[in-house]
This record gives sequence, C-alpha cells and structure tokens, in this order.
Amino acid sequence: MPQYKAPLRDVRFLLNEVFDYSAHYAQQPNAEDATPDMVDAILEGCATFCEEVLAPLNLSGDQEGCTFNDGVVTTPKGFKEAYAEYVAGGWQGISHPKQYGGQELPMSLNLLKSEMMGTANWSFTMYPGLSLGCMNTIFQFGSDEQKNTYMPPLVSGEWTGTMCLTEPQCGTDLGQVKTKAEPKGDGTYKITGTKIFISAGEHDLSENIIHIVLARLPDAPKGTRGISLFIVPKFLVNKDGSLGERNTVKAGAIEHKMGIRASATCVMNFDEAIGYMIAEPNKGLEAMFTFMNTARIGTAVQGLAHAELSYQGSLPYAKERRSMRALSGKKDGDQIADALIWHADVRRMLLTQRAVAEGARAMIYHSAKIADNMVACVSKGDKTGYEKFDNELGFYTPILKGFITEMGLECANLGMQVFGGHGYIKEHGMEQIARDARISTLYEGTTGIQALDLLGRKTRPARQEGPRLLQARPAMEVADRPDHAARQQGPRHRERRLL
Ligand SMILES: Cc1cc2nc3c(=O)[nH]c(=O)nc-3n(C[C@H](O)[C@H](O)[C@H](O)COP(=O)(O)OP(=O)(O)OC[C@H]3O[C@@H](n4cnc5c(N)ncnc54)[C@H](O)[C@@H]3O)c2cc1C
Repeated sequence: MPQYKAPLRDVRFLLNEVFDYSAHYAQQPNAEDATPDMVDAILEGCATFCEEVLAPLNLSGDQEGCTFNDGVVTTPKGFKEAYAEYVAGGWQGISHPKQYGGQELPMSLNLLKSEMMGTANWSFTMYPGLSLGCMNTIFQFGSDEQKNTYMPPLVSGEWTGTMCLTEPQCGTDLGQVKTKAEPKGDGTYKITGTKIFISAGEHDLSENIIHIVLARLPDAPKGTRGISLFIVPKFLVNKDGSLGERNTVKAGAIEHKMGIRASATCVMNFDEAIGYMIAEPNKGLEAMFTFMNTARIGTAVQGLAHAELSYQGSLPYAKERRSMRALSGKKDGDQIADALIWHADVRRMLLTQRAVAEGARAMIYHSAKIADNMVACVSKGDKTGYEKFDNELGFYTPILKGFITEMGLECANLGMQVFGGHGYIKEHGMEQIARDARISTLYEGTTGIQALDLLGRKTRPARQEGPRLLQARPAMEVADRPDHAARQQGPRHRERRLL
C-alpha cells in the first residue's frame, strides 16, 4: 500500500523557482492574503490532513465501498469523520468570496489543495469536487437570492452539490437530454426524469445536497439549444435558510464500479421535484460550458494524482526488492542480488512515472495561473483580457484533460509492472491505482471528445491565438530567465536523487 507523502519539495520548486507564484499573487487584485507565509501554511496544513486523515482511508474505502439501502447511501467507515474535519478546517471555501464565508484566496491554491487531496484519496475528493462545480454554477449564473441561499452552506461545506447531466441514452451528446421541466406558474418548475452516473448524488456526509440539473422546458427547441439549467435541492430551503420539506428527488441505485469505489455514483430519479431555473431559458448548456475549462483542469489533476501515487508506491519497492545482477555490473555486491532499481527497464518505468508527475504538475500550475488571471480580469471588468486568457486556457484544456489523464493511467500500469505479479495482488494497493485511474479518461469528456475539441474547434483559423501562444511561450519563458542555463542542471541532480 503506497504511503502517500505530499511532495512539498517538488510543489515548492515549481511555485517558487519555475513559476514565481509570489510575484504572480502580488499582481492579483484581492490576493493580498496569499502571502508566501500563508501559501506555505496552506501547503503544510493540507499535507498533514492528506497524509494523516485521507490517505489511511484510501485502501479501506476501496475495500468497503459505498452501500445502498432504499435510497440511502452510506459512505465507507471514516469518511464522515474525515469530511467533518475537512469542513472544520475551512478547506472547501478557500477560493470563494468572503461575502459567502470563503477565504477568497486565488483559485490556483484550490488546485494545489485538490492535487494533494486527490492523490491521497481520489474517491473522497470527488465529494467536495462536485460541490465546486455546483458552487461555480450558482456563483456565476444564479440570482442574488439564489446565491445568498445556497452559497454560504456550500462554501462552508455543510452542504454538498452535484452536476446532473448524464441520462441513460446520452452522456457525450447532451442534446438528447429528456428530463422535463414544467413551469408551476409560481416561478418554480417540476423536474421529472432520470439521471445516471451522478457522482455524490446521495450520501451521508452532508445535511443537504444541491443538484444542478439539465432539463428541457415544454416548448424548448430540439437539441443543445433547448436545454435549461435548474437548481434542485434534496431538502427545500426555508426563507430563513433552515431546511424545509424533502424534495421528490431520490437515489434509485448506486453503480458497482471498477474503481473509485468509495465515491457514490448514483441513479437519481426526479419525480416532479421542485426546481429553480438558473441562467437564461434554453441557454443551460452554454452556461455550463463557460466554466467547463476549469472543471476539466480539475479532472486533469486526477492524471497527475495517479502518476504521483503510483511513483510513490513503486519507488520504495524497487529499492527494496532484489533480482539478479544489473547488466552494467554488480551494484549491491554484499547482497544476494541487486535491487530492482538498478535494472534499466525498471528505471525507465520509474523515471517515466516521475517525469509524467512532474511535467503534469508543471502544466497544471502554469494553467492555474491563467485561471487566476481570468478571475482577476472579471473583477477588473477587463473583457478583452478575459477573452485572451480564456482562449489560451481553452486551448490548453483538452490537452491537459486528454493527455494527462491518459498518461496517469499509463503510469498506474507502470507502477503495477514494477511490482511484477505482486502488483496484481490487492494487498499492495497498486492495482487499486490502476482501477481508480481508469475513469479519468472517460468522464468530463472522453479522450476522443477532447481530441475533437482540440482539432475541431481550438485550432480553427478563427481561434489561432492558443496555438500561437503555445509556440511563443517557451521563447518568452527562456527570455525571462537569464539564469536558465544553470537551471538546465536540474534534471541530472534529480535523477541522482532517485537513487
Ligand atoms: C464513475 C462515473 C462518474 C460520473 N459522474 C458524473 C456526474 O457526476 N455527472 C454526470 O452528469 N455524469 C457523470 N458521469 C457520466 C460521464 O460523464 C459519461 O459517462 C461520459 O460523458 C461519456 O458518456 P457515455 O457514457 O454516455 O458514453 P457515449 O457518449 O455513449 O460515448 C461512447 C463512446 O463513443 C465516443 N463518442 C461519442 N460521441 C462521439 C463523437 N461525436 N465522435 C467520436 N466519438 C464519439 C466516446 O468518446 C466514447 O468512447 C460519470 C460516469 C462515471 C462512469
């Protein structure tokens, strides 16, 4: 079982030496709290929570899985307590506005948090992760009343959220969504239909669950132009913010899955459930896609998480287990055989995992700065700046999501391979990484869909800004760094450290 240790040295190297995050934060409006000391305190606090609370639940959560009984979903032992600790630590709202109880720190810090938490226990991280999608939707498109009602308990983590898009007949092609939304005449809607594969759709971690649901109005045009977006709470909310009646939305089942077994994936039945429209009628899908880029960076983090965990699991094993002699000559002469790590093929597998983890982390941290810049442009009312950063991030997103998740899966396989037959056995926890990693290339748009997005949309002549920036970026980075030659020494030192 890999013992997760937060890679703070690597994280700090990127933040301080490569991307100069302190200068970046100094230029962000409203980021005065993100001082180097504060950033370091967050990293340290998050690392401790991940190593001591989340990581120990990763294997047991997988073994126990979630259970379902007549609409009630129970998470594995220890998850409820860990989630309560997460809420008490104020982790959910670190990047959300102070107005709603958050800490309003830059969005990139939230991604750093997700990386560590996701590596320690991806299944756990799904619950607060889905809430982020829900919060972002309400924050961006909700009315003031909706924001005041739902944001504070979501930001604190007392309530969680979901994204209900997929239906039995469609996941990729959301133009086929059938769920109905009928106006009740009082400004609310009756939502009826079945959503499947809904992560965190039902569970025992929070007192209320706020579903964001795609549905169709009676007179809606066919296809993607006829989809609206609704807030459907599990418990209706009274005017004073207290919980009211149970809404008629219920989990019909949970899926029995290959991996992320501690994350509840639910069939959700909406039976004339009361819903509140968010964003404009028939513009639901458009609204959802405006923040899809940031959601997809979140899924790219899963690829990084599995590459890192798999490396952390296979490195100590390769140093400890012995087999034959290295082709380049005996290495551990006083031992019966040399350690696995001396064999070129094993080193290839270890270094591939390490290169993917470090490279993916760098890609994500670079993109996280762009996401911060987008938020800054919104607060400055700078539309042109926003569009520029949105184009750049939009171009990187299918690459991040498609490439990093595929490579994370490859690394999970390499990690198992380093263990030989023992990698296939449950007790070492390496096969769990491969099972957990598999979903990352499927949800939030399959790899094939990312490829279509990249080649079919993002590289069209009208949107050449992204590819142009990608070409120009290395030259800009190098020009910024007169000492870059000295930095070229880095990789050699780091390879020696592996030994
Ligand atoms: C564990 C888990 C958790 C999930 N969580 C959520 C959630 O919280 N909320 C939610 O709404 N959904 C969720 N999903 C659903 C997930 O997003 C979908 O499964 C995914 O979008 C793919 O849709 P699909 O399964 O219907 O496959 P399809 O859309 O049927 O696709 C099947 C295959 O065809 C390919 N394909 C489809 N269309 C094209 C095309 N035009 N060109 C080329 N290839 C194409 C796809 O790439 C894929 O390989 C989850 C799924 C799982 C398994």
